[in-house]
Amino acid sequence: MADPTQFVYFFGGGQADGSTEMKNSLGGKGANLAEMTRIGVQVPAGFTIPTEVCNYFSDNDGAYPEGLKEQVVAALERVEEVMGARLGSDTNPLLVSCRSGARESMPGMMDTVLNIGLNEHSVQALAEHSGNAQFAWDSYRRFIQMFGDVVLEVRARDDEHEDPFEKLLEAKKASAGVKYDSELSAEDLQELVSEFKALVKQRTGQDFPDEPIDQIWAAIGAVFGSWNNDRAAVYRRDYGIPHNWGTACNVQAMVYGNLGDDCATGVGLTRDCSMGAPGFNGDYLINAQGEDVVAGIRTPKRIETSLKDEMPEVYEQLETIGKTLENHYQEVQDIEFTVQKGRVWLLQTRNAKRTGFAAVRIAVDLVHEGLITPEQALEKRRIPADDLNQLLQPVFDPQEKALAETDGRLLTKGINAGPGAASGHICLTAAEAERLHNLNPEQPLILVRRETSPEDLRGMRAAEGILTAFGGASSHAALVSRQMGKTCIVGANELNVDYTAGTVSVGDIVLKIGDPISIDGFTGEVFTGMVDTTESEIVNVLIKKTVAPEESEAYQRYAQLMEWVDQFRTLGVRTNADLPDQAVDAVAFGAEGIGLCRTEHMFVEHLEEIREMILARDPDTRLAAINRLLPFQQDEFTGLFRVMQGRPVTIRLLDPPLHEFLSERHLQEQPDLAEELAAQLGISVEAVRARTAELHEENPMLGHRGCRLGIVYPEITAMQARAIMQAAVAVQAEGIEVHPEVMVPLVGFQTEIDNQAAIVRETADAVFAETGTTIEYQIGTMIEVPRAALRSDEIAETAEFFSFGTNDLTQTCLGMSRDDYGGFIGYYRENDIVPFDPFQSIDLGGVGRLIELGVAGGRSTRSDLKIGICGEHGGDPASVMFCHRAGLNYVSCSPYRVPIARLAAAQEALASE
Ligand code: PEP
Ligand code: MG
Repeated sequence: MADPTQFVYFFGGGQADGSTEMKNSLGGKGANLAEMTRIGVQVPAGFTIPTEVCNYFSDNDGAYPEGLKEQVVAALERVEEVMGARLGSDTNPLLVSCRSGARESMPGMMDTVLNIGLNEHSVQALAEHSGNAQFAWDSYRRFIQMFGDVVLEVRARDDEHEDPFEKLLEAKKASAGVKYDSELSAEDLQELVSEFKALVKQRTGQDFPDEPIDQIWAAIGAVFGSWNNDRAAVYRRDYGIPHNWGTACNVQAMVYGNLGDDCATGVGLTRDCSMGAPGFNGDYLINAQGEDVVAGIRTPKRIETSLKDEMPEVYEQLETIGKTLENHYQEVQDIEFTVQKGRVWLLQTRNAKRTGFAAVRIAVDLVHEGLITPEQALEKRRIPADDLNQLLQPVFDPQEKALAETDGRLLTKGINAGPGAASGHICLTAAEAERLHNLNPEQPLILVRRETSPEDLRGMRAAEGILTAFGGASSHAALVSRQMGKTCIVGANELNVDYTAGTVSVGDIVLKIGDPISIDGFTGEVFTGMVDTTESEIVNVLIKKTVAPEESEAYQRYAQLMEWVDQFRTLGVRTNADLPDQAVDAVAFGAEGIGLCRTEHMFVEHLEEIREMILARDPDTRLAAINRLLPFQQDEFTGLFRVMQGRPVTIRLLDPPLHEFLSERHLQEQPDLAEELAAQLGISVEAVRARTAELHEENPMLGHRGCRLGIVYPEITAMQARAIMQAAVAVQAEGIEVHPEVMVPLVGFQTEIDNQAAIVRETADAVFAETGTTIEYQIGTMIEVPRAALRSDEIAETAEFFSFGTNDLTQTCLGMSRDDYGGFIGYYRENDIVPFDPFQSIDLGGVGRLIELGVAGGRSTRSDLKIGICGEHGGDPASVMFCHRAGLNYVSCSPYRVPIARLAAAQEALASE
C-alpha cells in the first residue's frame, strides 16, 4: 500500500487511484478495474479497499482501521456523482456490488453480493426509473437471496437437500406455471420478496436490513471474512497461496444485464483456453445477471457462434475491447461484461487460466504474432511447468472408443471443458468422492453433478474427471477443473442427475452410483463403461513414433517451445532410468544423460543368484555367486551405454538392504522357498532361516545399506565395477562413445568413499589391462545424509562428482521416514504445519540449506565439481528452480518429467537474469 492511511482506491470516469502494478494491495480484480479505467475501457465506477484492511480485519476480530469509514463514505459520494445515481434514492437509486479479489484469482472461493442498496422504497424507484417493474423486483429478490446466503448465512441445514431460497423460488415457478426465473411476473417476484424476508426473519430472528449503508458494511465484512472460509483455505494450500495475503474488497456501481432483451451478461476469453485456438469466445445470456452464467444454472449461448447474429454491434464492441486488452496486457484475457441497453461495460479482466495445451499454443502464437518475445512466452505465469504434463496425458484409444460407439455406449455429449480422457466410477457428491478416494486412491472416480459449486473443490480434486449437466465452458466446474488439469465436460443437458435416487440417466438408460462411466474432455463425449486410454499426440510423435512430426501441429508447437527452452536454460536435465527403453524415452523427451541408474532393479530379475550371494557363509562361495551376476549386469550396462550414445551414464552401486531380496516375509509368503534354497546351496533349511533372521533390521533405511554393503562385501562393488568397465570397453569397441560415472550411495565419511573408490579404480585398471583399452570414467558420490553435506569439502577430495539424493537427504535431515510419513503428512498439510509435502518439493529451509552447504564445501575443494540431484525432487518445478539458484549442473528425473524440468530450468534462468 503506497500510503498507509489510504484505505480506499477510487476508479471511475476515466480516473483511477490504482493501477495493475498495485495488485498486491488491490488484488487482481481491483488493480485491473483501475487499469482498465485508465486505458479508457468502460468500467462502472467504484472503489477498492486493499488487502491490508482484510488482514487488519482478520487480526482484530472484525474491526476496521481508523479512517476507513470516512473514506468509504467519501468514495461512495464520488461513485454517485460519476454514475448520476444516489444510494437509496427515491428517483434514481444507485445499486452497488461488493466483490472479493485477491492477488491471485481464486475463482468462486470467496464471496460476492450484488444489487446492494435495495429496499421497499428504492425498489419502487428502480421500477419507475427503469420502466421495468419485473426487473426491479427480480433484482430485489436476488439481493435478498445472495445477501441472505453470504452475509446472514441462511443456507440449507444439514437435514435439507436444497437451498431454502431456491426451494421458495422453485415453488413460486411451479405455482405460476413457468419454467424459467425470467418468466415470473413483477407480482410473483414481489410476493417472493416477502417470502424471502419472512424466511430471513424466521431463520435469524432479525428483519432484513433496509439501510443501504448498513447493507454495504455487512457485505464488506462478509467479503473480508470469506478469505478465511474452508474452501478458500483449501484452495490456497493447493495452489501455494500464502494465507497472509488477504483479499481486497471491490465496491462498484451495478450495471444491468437484465433490463430487457437489449441487455446481456457474459464471460469471454480473448482466445480459447481449452486448446488455445485464436478468436474471441465465451458464454452469454440475454436479459440476465452475471452470476447466472458463472453459476452454470442456465446453459448460456456461445459468443463466437450466436452473439454475432443476435447483437452484431455488441459483438464488435467486445472484439475491439478484447484486442485492446490483449495488446495492453500482452496476454489472453478472461473478462466479465454486462451489456446494458446495447452498451458493453467491463466488470473484470484478468489473465486467463488455461490448460497446458492452450498455454503452449497461446504462448507460441503470441510470439509469432509479434506481441511477446520468446523469453516472455516462457514465463512461469504463462506456462506453469507442471502443466506441460497435460500434453503428455493419455487420450482414449481410438479403436476402443470407436468400439464403444458401435456398441451403443455413447451416452450423451456435453461441452468439452477440460482436455484428457478419464474413466471411473460414478460419484454424485464431492464428500463421497473425497471419502472413496481416501479409502482407495487407486480407484478412479468421476464426479457427476447437475452443476458444481466452489464447495465441491475437494471432491473435484479427488476425482479423475468431472461431468456436469448444466453450465458452460466458463462455469465454475470448467474453470476449476481446467486449472487442476482434470478432464471435464460441462453442460451435458440430456443428463438427468437424481441425487435422491442416486442415479444418472439419459432417456431410459439409467446408471447408478458406482457404475463405470468415461468422459472425453477433448470432444465432450460421455460413454457408459470404461474405455481404455492411449498415449497423447506428443507421446505418439516422440515416443511411439506412430505419428510423423509434420502431421501434428500440437507437436510442432511443443517442439518450438522446447527449442526456446533449451536456448535459455543453463541447468542440465538428465533422467533416472534403469533400463534401455526408459532411457530411450527420456532422450526423446530431451534428457542429456542418465543421472541415476539404480542397479538393484536389475538384481530383482536374478533373485536366485543374489540369494545365493546373501546366504554364502564364506568369501569364496559369495564370490562365486556374485560372479554369476556379472554377465547380467554387464548386459544391462551395455544396453544403456548403447542407447545413450556417448551421453553420461551415472551408475549407482548397490544400495538397498539385502533383506529386500531375502527376508522372513519372503519365506512366509513362499512356503517352499527355504527348502528350495537349502537344496540349491547344499545347506540346511535351518541355516537358511537363521541367516534370513540375521538380516532382519529394525530400521532398515538406516541400516546395512548403501556403501556399507560394498564396504563389508567388497566383492559386490568389484563385480559391479567390472560389469560397468567391461560393458564400457565393449560398447566403445563398437565405435560408440561412453562416459560412465560410478556413484557410491549413502556416503557420510570420506573414508567410505575412499574405500569404494579404491576398489573401483583397482578393478577398472585390471579390466583395462586385460583388454588393452582405457575408458574415461569418474567416481562420485551421492550426498544423501547430512554428514556428507557438512563434510563435503573432505568428500570432494575423492569424489569427482556429487549427486544429491534428496529422498534420503529429506528423510535424514527431517528425521521423517520416507516410508512412514504418510500417516501424518495429510494432517500436517491440512493444518499448515508444513506448507507442502517435503518429499515432493525440497524443504528449502532445511534440506535446501544442506544442499547449499554441500555445494559450497564440494566446490571449495574442487572448483569445477559437477553437481546434480537425483531424488524425486529433480522433476518438481520449484525444486528445479532452487537447484538452478544453488548452482547445480543438472537435475535428474523420471522420463516423463524431463520436459517439465527443462521448462522450469529455463524459467528460473530467465527469472534470475
Ligand atoms: C535418493 O535418496 O534421493 C535417491 C535418489 O536414492 P533412492 O531413492 O534410491 O534411495
Ligand atoms: Mg537414496
